[in-house]
Amino acid sequence: MLDLYELEREKKRESEWMNYKGIRYKVEYTKRGAIKSIIVVCPKCGKVGRLVRQFSAKKYCMRVFHKQSSKEYICRFSAYGSPYFDILKELYYKIRCK
Ligand SMILES: [Zn+2]
Repeated sequence: MLDLYELEREKKRESEWMNYKGIRYKVEYTKRGAIKSIIVVCPKCGKVGRLVRQFSAKKYCMRVFHKQSSKEYICRFSAYGSPYFDILKELYYKIRCK
């Protein structure tokens, strides 16, 4: 039997906050239990956002999408410009390709 806390988590379909090499993150799931999105505390601005990958022939970078009531913005982490790029990339693959 689930206790209240577990029940609450079940409803929201997300994991607890976890830590990967200093990056705080949690995982959101769909109704069917598939991974919906990876939520991170952005190392650039300190706000919560969704971690996504931008992958094209010319560019490879990780992005954090922030959506707040008043505005939306993106923090970008490029392979050459940010020390957090590798950690975010590792985290992304760790979760998406498990
Ligand atoms: Zn940010």
